[in-house]
Amino acid sequence: MSIVRNLAGIAKGMSITFGEILEPTQVENYPDGKGPLRGAIFEQRFRGAHVLQRDENGLEKCVACFLCAAACPSNCIFIEAAENTEETRISSSERYAKVYNIDYNRCIFCGYCVEACPTDAITHGHGFELATLNATNLVIRKADMLLPVAALTAK
Ligand code: SF4
Ligand code: SF4
Repeated sequence: MSIVRNLAGIAKGMSITFGEILEPTQVENYPDGKGPLRGAIFEQRFRGAHVLQRDENGLEKCVACFLCAAACPSNCIFIEAAENTEETRISSSERYAKVYNIDYNRCIFCGYCVEACPTDAITHGHGFELATLNATNLVIRKADMLLPVAALTAK
């Protein structure tokens, strides 16, 4: 009886296999596909490389409150705060992040920093081509993450 049941199981499995052979291929054509992502397709919630956002006036949303660094389980966010002045205004609040680094050697892309941020300054983008042979290149700096002003006007 068990032989019959096993054969029935194999036949069922093979019927699915042969049925799928005739279906169109479902794989993504990366890196030879079309578009800026070269064929890669992401869900909206995909947690890729971080982006530091600006507000509608082009000012940086980060107010250097350090909550993201405190929430980070990998302790991989380094921030140096500085004061805005009347002459030089970087963010809409009292302070801004003069230095904002994330060490991607340690980041686990958990999203806790994004959750903790009270101003929605730090977000996950869809950047994913982060591999490098030099670990130093994995310390991502503010200039690498900050949304360009041009991107704001293009929205
Ligand atoms: S995604 Fe997680 S590990 Fe990476 S910087 Fe944010 S809190 Fe830290
Ligand atoms: S990114 Fe957000 S949580 Fe982190 S220091 Fe800036 S404002 Fe605070």
